[in-house]
Amino acid sequence: MAPKRSSWKPPVSTSRVPALVTTSSPMPFTFLRNWKRKRIMKQPFPATWEPHLHGLPFFHQLNGEEQAKLRRMVQVFVAEKDFEGCGGLKIDNSMRVGIAAQACLLILHLDHDWYHRVRTILVYPSSFRSSFSETGPGGVVGPPSSAAHAGEAWLGGEVIFAWDSAFAGGRDGEDGRNPVFHEFAHKLDMLDGYADGTPPLASREQAEAWRAIATQSFHELRQDAEARRRTLLDPYGATSPAEFFAVSTECFFEQGRQLKAEHPSLYDQLRRFYRQDPALR
Ligand SMILES: [Zn+2]
Repeated sequence: MAPKRSSWKPPVSTSRVPALVTTSSPMPFTFLRNWKRKRIMKQPFPATWEPHLHGLPFFHQLNGEEQAKLRRMVQVFVAEKDFEGCGGLKIDNSMRVGIAAQACLLILHLDHDWYHRVRTILVYPSSFRSSFSETGPGGVVGPPSSAAHAGEAWLGGEVIFAWDSAFAGGRDGEDGRNPVFHEFAHKLDMLDGYADGTPPLASREQAEAWRAIATQSFHELRQDAEARRRTLLDPYGATSPAEFFAVSTECFFEQGRQLKAEHPSLYDQLRRFYRQDPALR
């Protein structure tokens, strides 16, 4: 695949959005897919998978109904996605379940199909170098990126992780840094075909409110980043609206109370989109 690139070039970072490529419409076999999912969800959750859920701090903050739903979503996610080890990594269930559970937390009150374009999850042992080239503002294609990454989300379907970072991000539930939340937030943003920082929203009113508040918050973060002021939100979010949404998502799920206190309007927009209220957990 030879992805086109957005025109901005982020600084050295742990992750980013590599592609703006149109993709095919959702699969037409809805009936068959739903039938398969029902069969999968009727299967008992494997006992050997439980420790991988319980190692994630957020799992203990969910109520019983949410935990049961997350288990079912993890079963479907693991069954439907291809996990491929890279760089000599052998994929095991701790990786499948750990990544699936973190990804599914974002869509716990949305729907499985919000990840329908995610076909393959590539996992490296540790940080990896990207294989695509940068395209500058004039359309000039540069050499392959030399920066090391902990995650990437491709519009065409793939999501890539460094397992050490994905594991550590999941085990620390309060630092506001989580590569899996970050990259899967990009996948939600990309559902309309663009990584522009605006996920699919339920109504025009909600979309207008999101754009107004996200734009203001994004510019405030840019000003803070330029002035080198410490902020709750990772300054990497100041590199583009897409990164702002991904960084805000990490903070929302891991530092909900702080985000609500410092950025109540932004928190409220994320709460409406994700249909979750982490500050109350
Ligand atoms: Zn990113």
